[in-house]
Amino acid sequence: MTLIWDFIGLLALYPLMAFVVGLSLSRRRVHRATPTDVVILGAHPDDCVISAGEYAIESLAFGKSVRIVFLTSGSSREDQTRAEVRRLETLDAWGSVGVEEQDVLFLGLPQAERITGPGRITPDEQAWAVDRIVEVLSAAPPDASVFLPAEGESHCDHRTLRTIAYEALGRIDRADLCVYECPEYNHSYSLFSSPVRTLFAMGRSIPILSKLVPRKDGLGRADTVFGGPAWRLPACADRLEMKRAMLRRFVSEGGELLVRYFGYPDRFRPIPHGRWGVDGASWKYARVRERRLAWSVVVLWVVLWASIVIEAMSGVHGVLAMDEIPNRVGVAAFALLGIVIGGYGARGKHQLEKRITILMLFAGVCAGILL
Ligand SMILES: [Zn+2]
Repeated sequence: MTLIWDFIGLLALYPLMAFVVGLSLSRRRVHRATPTDVVILGAHPDDCVISAGEYAIESLAFGKSVRIVFLTSGSSREDQTRAEVRRLETLDAWGSVGVEEQDVLFLGLPQAERITGPGRITPDEQAWAVDRIVEVLSAAPPDASVFLPAEGESHCDHRTLRTIAYEALGRIDRADLCVYECPEYNHSYSLFSSPVRTLFAMGRSIPILSKLVPRKDGLGRADTVFGGPAWRLPACADRLEMKRAMLRRFVSEGGELLVRYFGYPDRFRPIPHGRWGVDGASWKYARVRERRLAWSVVVLWVVLWASIVIEAMSGVHGVLAMDEIPNRVGVAAFALLGIVIGGYGARGKHQLEKRITILMLFAGVCAGILL
């Protein structure tokens, strides 16, 4: 019984986390400057709407130009039918807000088969793509904004595009351009940038509590892992609805599904001029397999694990100490409990965080018996 109460005590950490979430949500930056001409670089046909659809709509409303470049055709080299379908959907989506066909450039390189790679774009094709993007950026109007994938994207094509864009930016002498990075799909967790996704991920990793955490779609959106959260445009329901209507036009991708996962306001962050081509130092976050954890998350996890050990230890110790003679039956019962917890952790496929949580609980029970 004590263990259950201790476990409930552990959950009291959550109000504290909720406080941090509230604090971080109030820190969201809003981009209030008048929209400029814009060049959006995307790896796949739906990416440019997801990353900067709202910004483009806003630019068009101010009579500014919108130029869009796609690195891949959204299909493998062999599947030309799919490439053509996606090309037409893209033109349809952008045409619906007034972007002309001549302002949409498809580089048509092959899309990677899997998110994690390997990519199918050869070094020669990459060099050719740099030349094309150099041409586009050189021709961009003065003070134009350039949108590219953020650092730490999970999809290898997004990462390749970022490298290509950086190389192109390095080749042109355009200090007037404003470069923005857009987090779209990543495994970054930060209490300050993506508090909702972080809390849900942590909740799902704790045994028992994970049953209570919903697995709803669209919970926890990608954001940055260090240096503050991405910026937003001032909220506008009509503009957001227009962006969602554009996403729905990607029928072959399951338009409604895209809306559910990516139908949120644009999020982007400026990369200062001197930092073009320089990505964040690795000490700015911790890397666990493919996940990138902000230090805020690491600290929270250490606190959580330490609490689990201490709570389990004091729980077991408290129960055993209640008897004047620490009876062997009690010790044996807790040893059995330890074996069950350890066995549960060792058996079956748990995610890494859950394994660690179970291990900590196991360590706490063992320490409680021994001390
Ligand atoms: Zn993509």
